[in-house]
Amino acid sequence: PERPPVNRYNLNNVTITPDPIGNQEKVLILTPMARFYPEYWENLLQLNYPHNLINLGFILPKNKEGNAATTALQAAITKTQTGPVDKRFKSVVIERQDFDAPLTSQDESERHKMENQKARRSAMARARNSLLFTTLGIETSWVLWLDADIIEAPATLIQDLAAHDKPIIVPNCYQRFNDPETGKPDERPYDFNNWQDSPTAQEIGQKMGPDDIILEGYSEMATYRALMAYMTDPSQNDVNYEVPLDGVGGTTLLVRADVHRDGAMFPPFPFYHLIETEGFAKMAKRLGWHATGLPNYKVYHYNE
Ligand code: GDP
Ligand code: MN
Repeated sequence: PERPPVNRYNLNNVTITPDPIGNQEKVLILTPMARFYPEYWENLLQLNYPHNLINLGFILPKNKEGNAATTALQAAITKTQTGPVDKRFKSVVIERQDFDAPLTSQDESERHKMENQKARRSAMARARNSLLFTTLGIETSWVLWLDADIIEAPATLIQDLAAHDKPIIVPNCYQRFNDPETGKPDERPYDFNNWQDSPTAQEIGQKMGPDDIILEGYSEMATYRALMAYMTDPSQNDVNYEVPLDGVGGTTLLVRADVHRDGAMFPPFPFYHLIETEGFAKMAKRLGWHATGLPNYKVYHYNE
């Protein structure tokens, strides 16, 4: 009888370089998705990294909202994957999350309530891990975490971030809105999970119980961490300006695949009093990989 075939791979042949297009490197774009926004899909389509080098992975909750989002996502995928060849992606995986029933309300005010954070971030961490561990491939060079409500990013996002040659790199996530006072369009910081640690936050952590978490962006818990959200420099506006980070958010986050392969994941439990993406940055750091932020390189979050 014939023996089953053995597939041999040499991981050294999978390059991870600052010139990912030149080296034909595969990028895995991972998106946890509670709601489908057409603007998210349009933004994804306009990314000019060669689509035949991009694998897509989605995870959606199993509830009414998740069902509706899955239907809309499937329609968008079908349209793209049967449309012009140069817009088609290499592969697409959709997963449904059947653990940790998510919070019933996903409205922004409810999501951001402090008492809801630990359970919500823990469920998000498990969704991200589940998606990551089922889709990360032998050939994956980069993982781009892209939230389902990121609706605007430069077309060159992937190659721009990769060009920095960093293991973990994050642009600044902002939100466009109409200023009620001036009536004019303006923008404001959105993601406060990109930060540099502070002695105050360390002290807060030391006084906490082992299962407590430090949260960023809540006045009840002033951490005095330095937030990348406020590090933009309008005078110079050098988009390549880099800052070191100790915590990262997941709205748009480029990770070398070997960082995840080393075991850096999204802790769904308090890890040094941090969970999910912030815990990921800490875990990566323990593995010797440091995170970098780009304060002047902006992507935009949907305004609910
Ligand atoms: P926020 O912007 O920090 O308030 O976080 P979001 O609520 O936007 O969640 C981050 C990402 O996870 C977005 O892409 C959401 O669509 C998605 N998301 C939110 N809740 C769930 C959930 O329960 N399950 C899954 N799979 N994705 C979720
Ligand atoms: Mn969001």
